[in-house]
Amino acid sequence: MLEARGVVRDLRAYRPPLAGRTGLRLDFNESTVGCSPRVLARLRSLDSELLARYPEREPVERTVAGFLGLDPAQVLLTNGVDEAIHLLCSTYLDPGDEALIVVPTFAMYAIFAQAEGARVVEVRAGDNFTFPAPDLLAQVNQRTRLIAVANPNNPTGSAVAGKVLMQIAQAAPQAALLVDEAYFEFHGETLIDQIRIQRTPRIENLFVARTFSKAYGLAGLRIGILAGEARQMAMVRRVASPYSVNAAALAVLPEALQDQEYVGRYVAQVLGNRERLQRELGNLGMHYWPSHANFVLVRVGAAHAEFVQSLRERGILVRDRHSDPLCEGCVRLTVGSDEHTQTLIDALRDVVGQLGLQTGSRTEVRA
Ligand code: PMP
Repeated sequence: MLEARGVVRDLRAYRPPLAGRTGLRLDFNESTVGCSPRVLARLRSLDSELLARYPEREPVERTVAGFLGLDPAQVLLTNGVDEAIHLLCSTYLDPGDEALIVVPTFAMYAIFAQAEGARVVEVRAGDNFTFPAPDLLAQVNQRTRLIAVANPNNPTGSAVAGKVLMQIAQAAPQAALLVDEAYFEFHGETLIDQIRIQRTPRIENLFVARTFSKAYGLAGLRIGILAGEARQMAMVRRVASPYSVNAAALAVLPEALQDQEYVGRYVAQVLGNRERLQRELGNLGMHYWPSHANFVLVRVGAAHAEFVQSLRERGILVRDRHSDPLCEGCVRLTVGSDEHTQTLIDALRDVVGQLGLQTGSRTEVRA
């Protein structure tokens, strides 16, 4: 009888709630307004010849490298950050190796690491989800071969200083350090420049991932970036399919990068609305953690499921994170455009009153 590998049988199926997502989608941290019209126009102009051919990634990698100020040998386009994580796990993890993550965090690090037969070592975030650097460093040993950090982190919205991450890279030269900057545009701080710097001795183990799924509004196209030191990237390329990024995504990517005005305008809106939403949550007496990304984590308490359901009944989808470590009773709200944030705020006022969630006190939690 055919059996999947033991580590695969032991994996818990990860099924994000994708079904029936009609309404205002504030559940997956997508853009609420979608991509630039210029990207859409380019997509509409594609012809059958483009689709008949196998996609050629390299010319677009050169464009992306130019955009990031990197050498093309330092850049790999991927089928979203998800593929970047998968590739790093395939490149560096042997069965029995250890992958270090800080929880709560994005689910795919543990899934891809476990699928390689690695042991996932979870370090719990500190109070108010602060980054537990000493605890993380204490877990580093010779078997540590991957350390994955989302910065800003999902689902907490918290961020860690780049210099702390560089200390970790230096303390664990035998491990690939993935700094997942999926929400970079909403935070503004990056470690890409550390890859740019040619230093001696070289820091070879730092990788930075970016995505077009969030600020650029292209989650459906599946395109992301993995950047790292050229010699290491050559190894990562060996386990990658040459065709994992589709022709449509490659064709529109230069347009997406060129229309920085569009992305910049959306990001500026989101940043303003993040403040507005946080202020409103404070006024409603709800605990939240100040966010560096395009979402805010809120502690609703025991009524988390009813809260999500009540918003759904008002046509708004948000994400219950109650099952994540340290996230008991928590719900994640994506921040979008002015109009969409206003819709959310109006509904929140209603739902908080309806469910009797008001505590009356301002309970902003400083991260
Ligand atoms: N990293 C983080 C931290 C994320 O939150 C997400 C999306 N939820 C991803 C990666 C996945 O990005 P992509 O769509 O590029 O695969």
